[in-house]
Amino acid sequence: MAAPHDDAMNPQLACRLLRVPVEIRHAIYDLVVPDEVHLASRVNGEGAGIEWRVSECVEKRRKDIYDNGFERRTENGSDVVWVRRLDSNWGPHWECEEVAGMGNREGVSKEKNVKGVEAAAGMAFLGVCKTMYLDVMSYMVERTVIHVVDLTTLECFLRIANDHTTNPSAIKTSLASALPSIRKLNITMRFALPICEAIEKLATESTQISGPPSPSPENEEGNEATEAAINIAAATSWLQLVPKIAQLTHLRTLHVWIDHDSKKSWTVVHERAILSPLIRLANTSSPHLALTVSLPMLHPGLETPDRHFLAYCTDCPFHIHRFVRQRWHHFRASDSGPIFDQRCLGTVKHEPDFPLTFESEGWEDCTFEQCESRERELWKAGEDVRGLVKCMQTTTVHPGII
Ligand SMILES: [Zn+2]
Repeated sequence: MAAPHDDAMNPQLACRLLRVPVEIRHAIYDLVVPDEVHLASRVNGEGAGIEWRVSECVEKRRKDIYDNGFERRTENGSDVVWVRRLDSNWGPHWECEEVAGMGNREGVSKEKNVKGVEAAAGMAFLGVCKTMYLDVMSYMVERTVIHVVDLTTLECFLRIANDHTTNPSAIKTSLASALPSIRKLNITMRFALPICEAIEKLATESTQISGPPSPSPENEEGNEATEAAINIAAATSWLQLVPKIAQLTHLRTLHVWIDHDSKKSWTVVHERAILSPLIRLANTSSPHLALTVSLPMLHPGLETPDRHFLAYCTDCPFHIHRFVRQRWHHFRASDSGPIFDQRCLGTVKHEPDFPLTFESEGWEDCTFEQCESRERELWKAGEDVRGLVKCMQTTTVHPGII
């Protein structure tokens, strides 16, 4: 038991919660700490440090697998907010981005604001003191699902978790102490399509994965060259970081969700190249690690066994779950225009994806599964599916903007 003068010398010892038995503290944490949280990082503008944000995940495994982007509209019909949500690189966690306060919270409903406040209450323990931060983080990494949705956070996360050297930074020491014990990790990556193409280029060059290579980035000066370099850096990061997850020896479940942000079909990318670091991970990680991957559905008219893991392929070491892609997309008035520049906001449009028959005229009585199986047969038979169906082509034009 600490003496009074000890409390005066070290204010952290004065926290009564830290004095109660660990079982009681964990029972309290169990009431206020969410089952799933997001860990996000961003560079501190005033120094070289990294600011960490822990926030509640409110996605809660959507029951409706047919979410297509239409559900992201706001109650007041704000087109700016809808566009932002459709563009969110948090993908299916677009609501979590708002709760985390990582993006513009304009248009966030009262209900979601309440969720955010509740999450903040649960997370408040992290801000009490450094000792409490470590205590709560140590509890969380052993029980909660940790979500990471960007490569920068994943890189920082793995660097800290695998850094066994001492560091005088208290926050770093707290994270370094807790993160190696992580049990459940979820990674969500909504790559820009050029990053997928850069991954294909790098992976096929290094491993000779079959299939035609994508065009090389144009060697031009200016923005295009800079953008190409950024895409190559992101692709390199993805290929190099994922295998390092094997160093998290306490990790028991890893779920990875991947998509790209283009209106084009997922099937245009070299899926095997994108999954190549996960395959290396599966072959080197502990047998106790359960690895699952969620990918968009493949288009039967575009899929090939040398670029994709088709349903009958048996050479994938983990389970792949296929989901239905976002069908409402933001079409910018100018490809290079900033998203929130009102003059360049563009339009929101429904872009059909396989199965095209779903939600189309004449197929209303068919379930999604019936559309999928029947349309797959049509594509494989060489039928002109686009000519057979009349897909929903509703276009929303933003008044006063275009
Ligand atoms: Zn989430």
